[in-house]
Amino acid sequence: MVRLSDYRHFIGIDELEKIKKLASYLKGQEIVHINATRYGGGVAEMLSSLVPLLSSLGLRARWEVLEGDNRFFEITKRIHNSLQGNMELKFTEEMWSHYLEINRRNSMRFEEGDFTFVHDPQPLPMIESRENGIWIWRCHIDPSKGNPSVLRFLARFIEKYDALIFSLKDYIIPLKRAYIVHPTIDPLSEKNKAIEPSEIEKVLERYDIDSDRPVIGQVSRYDPWKDPLGVIRVYRMVKEKVKDVQLVMVGSSASDDPESGKWYELTSREAEGLADVHLLTDLPDIEVNAIQRSYYVALQLSTREGFGLTVTEALWKGVPVVARPSGGIKLQVIDGVTGFLIRDLEDAASKVIHLIKRPWLSRILGNNGREHVRRNFLITRLLMDHLRIMGELDKISRSKRYGAK
Ligand code: UDP
Repeated sequence: MVRLSDYRHFIGIDELEKIKKLASYLKGQEIVHINATRYGGGVAEMLSSLVPLLSSLGLRARWEVLEGDNRFFEITKRIHNSLQGNMELKFTEEMWSHYLEINRRNSMRFEEGDFTFVHDPQPLPMIESRENGIWIWRCHIDPSKGNPSVLRFLARFIEKYDALIFSLKDYIIPLKRAYIVHPTIDPLSEKNKAIEPSEIEKVLERYDIDSDRPVIGQVSRYDPWKDPLGVIRVYRMVKEKVKDVQLVMVGSSASDDPESGKWYELTSREAEGLADVHLLTDLPDIEVNAIQRSYYVALQLSTREGFGLTVTEALWKGVPVVARPSGGIKLQVIDGVTGFLIRDLEDAASKVIHLIKRPWLSRILGNNGREHVRRNFLITRLLMDHLRIMGELDKISRSKRYGAK
């Protein structure tokens, strides 16, 4: 059972009191969050902390997960990829109608709340079942270079929401009142809580990783946008200069991501002939936590990234991050302060080598990274943003109702 007071240690008593006060205005209200998967990916990660925290503050919070068949998730992956900028993908009438049909069926499974937060495009059309509540679409990806015809199709639903939330200013779709909320991590979750060094040793041993030698890696779904093949190429270059380095990649097969098997295969093929490569899948959170803590350097080579919670997680653990300057990564990796932003894969390899050879520099960047996350990207800040937004929308809706009478 989570309690807000457990976070006092990270944010101090004043912040805690502010949160409680904001929550008191909304006491007893029902809040529903709807997304497409309970495991894997940043959205599930965030909801598994946010929803219990809202409940602990006296709000009636629920988390509902869309049910769909493989066909549905193939279509929604196609929508996701088109919104992230793939212009090649085509959609047939049949695809759109299957997408809508699955949403219609899910609408019958759950009731709206006083506030209903719909996450990402998969459940977007559920707005059609709205009755009296306030509906908010929370877009976690970067749709700013999205395929215009797909955006046009989705606009008919987006327009019906009361408000939209995006991760960065650059991502706003200017159809409705929009808020910016940077994603966050939970410092007390299994993924991020402090663990004993002996636990880290044990996990490394379990996967046959040598704890006497440096480890680098990337934690991310096996997905083309995360550039897992680029990670292998960087490792190849690093390995030529630092003979004893090891690569540990951790990826999950999120249940809403049908492409992960294929990309895992491609990644392991790319790594053929390379020594000390560990491609791990579907690790429990506590093991992901241990692996991230074992990194000398964390890579995040995403070519497109909504925010990049894996970066936040690594920084929180005091690990410097070498990353492409994509999307929300730019807010987190401050070049030369919390890690390095890279131009290309050669640059990435040289920055990794630079850090492996300078433990003192890694220590400085690591400390900066942890403090940067503490100030800006902890779940308590997200909670505060959500409470503020609900308070504001509640006020607007009341004044509309009052005005209409
Ligand atoms: N994750 C995980 N196991 C994996 C791969 C990823 O638990 O094998 C988690 C990761 O720790 C992070 C989230 O999934 O919390 C990924 O969020 P991010 O914003 O980096 O990317 P997304 O998958 O949402 O595009």
